[in-house]
Amino acid sequence: MIPTIIVHGGAKTITDDKVAANHAGCTAAAEAGWAVLLGGGTASEAVEAAIRILEADQTFNAGLGATLNSDGEVELDAAIMEGSLCWGAIAAVQGVRHPISVARKIMDDKPRLLVARGGERFAVDCGAEMCKKENLIAEEQWEQWKEDQEVIDRPNTVGCVVLDGSGVLAAGTSTGGTTKQQSGRVGDTALVGCGLYADNKIGGCSTTGDGESIIPVVLAKTAIDFLAGDRHPDEAAQMAIDALVSKVKGEAGCILIDDQGRVGWAYNSQHMAVAYMNAEMDKIAAFTKK
Ligand code: ASP
Repeated sequence: MIPTIIVHGGAKTITDDKVAANHAGCTAAAEAGWAVLLGGGTASEAVEAAIRILEADQTFNAGLGATLNSDGEVELDAAIMEGSLCWGAIAAVQGVRHPISVARKIMDDKPRLLVARGGERFAVDCGAEMCKKENLIAEEQWEQWKEDQEVIDRPNTVGCVVLDGSGVLAAGTSTGGTTKQQSGRVGDTALVGCGLYADNKIGGCSTTGDGESIIPVVLAKTAIDFLAGDRHPDEAAQMAIDALVSKVKGEAGCILIDDQGRVGWAYNSQHMAVAYMNAEMDKIAAFTKK
């Protein structure tokens, strides 16, 4: 079994001035997850470590720097799934610095999706790092919201998939949703099968893009199903995006690892930042365009 990690910074347009930050952020996230694997950590621990880096980086629409909703507030969604089909998810929460860590605690407690005040209460009870809800509003996001600026570097989910040395897969996602989304709106990110999926017998997937398009095609599970018959993850990812385009015309991306540790990804946005690493590589490979 070859331990492998792949992370993404979202399907979006990356303007020239943001290429370096997207590259560096995804590389740092992959490094953090990889360090966990090298230290003997599990796939879920590595997914959490990688996504925490992206949640703390204002370059990405997750945690600090998340896009603002119709009320000018940050509402966060995150989920994690293990290849044993165990999962945990949180949605529409405020003042939670690392929603991915709360999703993992929910998974370890008992699988369910907790939203809004109930999710925040669980986060407090399990000792998660909390802050004033305003403290997750980054200056750039506030300026864009206040001035009703066109969002070029469009919002996006962050995600990670890991295969650990014992053959366990895990996938995770985290997002602030879509710009000016209606307060209370929850997209694909917190939904198993849509934003993420992991099955130790087949592979793991994390998606990004238009939640309202991803949900009806159950994009993450669709991509996993395309891995059947030993299909390469690159081809399966492309087939999943093609299916989304032909059925609902959405914009999305996905990353995949199969049960052998092969990685693949595809997107129909302009760009998608990706970084990956496995035990046969000397250093992390990172891209903002395929
Ligand atoms: N998938 C996220 C959502 O719909 C946002 C994004 O990836 O652009 O909430």
